[in-house]
Amino acid sequence: MKFRTNPDRSKETLLQRESAFSKSQKSFDLVIAGGGAAGVLAAIAACDEGLSGTSVAIVEKEETILRKVRASGNGRCNLANMGSIEGRYHGHYPQFVRGVFSRVAPESLLSYFRSIGLATISDDEGRVYPRSNQAQSVVLTLTRALNRRNIEVFTEKQLVRISRESSRFLLDLSDGMSWDTRALVIASGGPASPNLGGDLSGMRLLMSLGHACESPFPALVPLVLHPHPLLKRAEGVRFRGQAFFENCKGTCSKTVSGEFLVTSYGMSGIAAMELGRTVSMIDISDPAYSMPECTAGHQIESRSQERSRSKDTIGNLVVDLLPEFSEEELVSFFNMQDCSRQTSSDLWRIVLSGLIPVKMAEAMLMDSHFPLEPTAVVQMIKSLRLPVIGTRDFDYAQVTAGGISTRDFNPRTLESYKIPRLYAAGEVLDIDGDTGGFNLMWAFSSGILAGLSAARALQKNVGD
Ligand SMILES: Cc1cc2nc3c(=O)[nH]c(=O)nc-3n(C[C@H](O)[C@H](O)[C@H](O)COP(=O)(O)OP(=O)(O)OC[C@H]3O[C@@H](n4cnc5c(N)ncnc54)[C@H](O)[C@@H]3O)c2cc1C
Repeated sequence: MKFRTNPDRSKETLLQRESAFSKSQKSFDLVIAGGGAAGVLAAIAACDEGLSGTSVAIVEKEETILRKVRASGNGRCNLANMGSIEGRYHGHYPQFVRGVFSRVAPESLLSYFRSIGLATISDDEGRVYPRSNQAQSVVLTLTRALNRRNIEVFTEKQLVRISRESSRFLLDLSDGMSWDTRALVIASGGPASPNLGGDLSGMRLLMSLGHACESPFPALVPLVLHPHPLLKRAEGVRFRGQAFFENCKGTCSKTVSGEFLVTSYGMSGIAAMELGRTVSMIDISDPAYSMPECTAGHQIESRSQERSRSKDTIGNLVVDLLPEFSEEELVSFFNMQDCSRQTSSDLWRIVLSGLIPVKMAEAMLMDSHFPLEPTAVVQMIKSLRLPVIGTRDFDYAQVTAGGISTRDFNPRTLESYKIPRLYAAGEVLDIDGDTGGFNLMWAFSSGILAGLSAARALQKNVGD
């Protein structure tokens, strides 16, 4: 589903635009809207490509830049992934990322980080972290790189309107100022995690300039489950396991493995959140889906959240609590413990507590009739079915799926096909990645490409 521009702005008179131009209080070669991973790398790359730092500005609506980077990876910042990118990115046109990564390959991104003073380290699964293991190192290194290049960073200013004046852009900011610039990068992210700056304003600005937008929805987001004894009994319990989502038609998602966290409303933890995208997708296939509302940046609600309140089950989360044990191994384990002759839950509770967290064992045994057959318990452990009613909303999502259509942008430069010298990078575009560093890698790499493409274009047309 696509959203198209409201063409109100075309009614603007030349006089109004001229008066906006004369109000202009600052003039730049390149302005970058958004001081997140993509925006900061765009600014640094543009200067390294030859623009003077003082002619480049970042405008950031929050008090500080790089808020998501600081919070990322539980404070460790999983900033890239050296594994294959095949199948790791999603959107209506995921092949788009190839154009970007062929110009800014993961290896060159790491070299780039090293050149600005950040050493990195990768684990066995290709996940890359700062060598210090601290997200703060990334923030400090990038901030120093901006300072060293004299790039101007304007915080607590939001870009609220863009208009085109011959070959320049006129930018209206939330503090009443009006700037002009020769090139513009929109790196404003998406609406996920509004407490860390997420909102829809960048998508709306690009839509106002004629770009299509694929409905944004929360990806990497906790699941809301139908009330279940597990949620009451085992709230707060973390466990490692495997799971997949099975929708009402019996179609199963990919299987995810890792950490799960039982919450009062459902299932969180990074593995459960990985299934959030699949569950959210059910919403956007609903013909009633509309662009999420966002007025003050904190009122974004997805249809999943509405549906969660309606309590309709849309499928099941099927959990394997002990993926490293086969069914046969578990049956013989229980037989060795003499479980089948027990007529109360006591022994089962104790035996299960040798395998899974005791609160989970209690919750699972709650509605059981004894004596229990070991095979029935194995079934509960290996295929625990929890009815799903939706996902949490953007407030709890780490990543936005959907966004500005990549079909409107050149994958080799990230320049808009509709408006010359307008670029977009990062999560504002209709690209989202798997967990494991793919999202930050996309933001950083696309930011670099947008920044250097803008610098090259400006240097080709010096007189504009
Ligand atoms: C808690 C958390 C943990 C995460 N951990 C990881 C991880 O370990 N690895 C990983 O790969 N990914 C992780 N992610 C995802 C990753 O952080 C994002 O994909 C990435 O930050 C997106 O970068 P971006 O620059 O496109 O957008 P953002 O980081 O969202 O930056 C956009 C910036 O633009 C500003 N802005 C928006 N609109 C305007 C406007 N109109 N005017 C001015 N400024 C504006 C915003 O305030 C924001 O600062 C995590 C996300 C969260 C929330």
